[in-house]
Amino acid sequence: MHLKILVTAGDGIGPEVTREAVEVLTEVLRDTGHTYSIDQRAIGGIAIKQFGRPLPEETLAAALDSDAVLLGAVGSNEFNSLPPEKRPEVGLLQLRSALGGFANLRPAFAFKELAACSPLRPEIIDGADILFVRELLGGLYFGQPREWNKTTNEAWNTMRYTKDEVARVARIAFELASKRRMKVTSVDKANVLEVSQLWRATVTEIAKDFPSVALEHQYVDAMSMHLMNQPKNYDVVLTENLFGDILSDESAVITGSLGMLPSATIGGKVNLYEPVHGSAPDIAGKGLANPLGAILTGALILRHSGGLEAEAAAIEASVRKVLEQGFRTPDLARTNPQSFTILSTTEMGAKVRETIKTMLVNA
Ligand code: NAD
Repeated sequence: MHLKILVTAGDGIGPEVTREAVEVLTEVLRDTGHTYSIDQRAIGGIAIKQFGRPLPEETLAAALDSDAVLLGAVGSNEFNSLPPEKRPEVGLLQLRSALGGFANLRPAFAFKELAACSPLRPEIIDGADILFVRELLGGLYFGQPREWNKTTNEAWNTMRYTKDEVARVARIAFELASKRRMKVTSVDKANVLEVSQLWRATVTEIAKDFPSVALEHQYVDAMSMHLMNQPKNYDVVLTENLFGDILSDESAVITGSLGMLPSATIGGKVNLYEPVHGSAPDIAGKGLANPLGAILTGALILRHSGGLEAEAAAIEASVRKVLEQGFRTPDLARTNPQSFTILSTTEMGAKVRETIKTMLVNA
């Protein structure tokens, strides 16, 4: 297959971590005989400087013409004085909306080697491997009417879903669960909210098309506790927009560092892939950024846009191997730094590539 990837590296550590992700992707695609093209375009603060706006037309056109977009991060202190609608972050919101993805996938998994980075006890997180599927285009964040009426001192937002919006994201959750551990946990607040009653009824209906996948329903308040007490009980967790925003951030503590987390937004015209972290201006340009979240995001591109499961798994396995061997970026070695070999961003990228190369040769 030919995979056409657009990289929008963005600001701060975005270019540093995406460079390593691209090198790893190139290594894997080349060594496994796939053809690919990787193009680069500006977004965010760098695009404001070069083009006067955070999402230039040529970037959008290139994104719509690709199979997958890999975004680094946007945001720069330099633009903090601009009004919110002109800031770098707007470029990302515009890109997300143009690409139209409605299902945000966020894995939260425990690396045994990073157990000390998590505030949860190792015996709780060991073996945890959750995939959040969060609906991204509906619910409270987009529902109308919404207003802050400063005359009457009232404000309101609307949580609204159509059956079709729930059904399409539920279908994605069941399809993904059928390739994993065959379980979907759907999160709602059906004891209080009518929207959640529609959500629960629709998810239950879609489940009938996937008889081999187990479905359970959890209330969001209980779920926030269960995720911290027994994360190992969950496989695919399906949520509406607001609940998923909160629960997926809460579950980031399972992995232990923001720098480790990948994400994908699928279901629209073109899938968008981003590490979860931001542009981290405090460490940008110092070689301190952890590129593993971006590298693992590259694995999601291969899995969800390339259909290349073995190649995606090879990237994930090599990240694990590198950690097993005691290599760490500084964010992963806050406790006990003397026990590890501390690597810069580029050294960590090179270590992952070296490990993949050996794996592919021996495969
Ligand atoms: P952030 O994720 O950039 O940083 C939070 C903390 O985590 C910082 O201390 C940072 O040094 C650390 N960190 C983040 N990624 C890391 C990595 N890969 N390796 C090591 N340490 C890492 O969040 P923030 O500080 O709230 O935001 C900074 C800027 O990023 C803001 O302009 C914000 O709007 C933007 N932002 C962008 C995105 C995105 O592009 N998707 C997401 C979140 C924040």
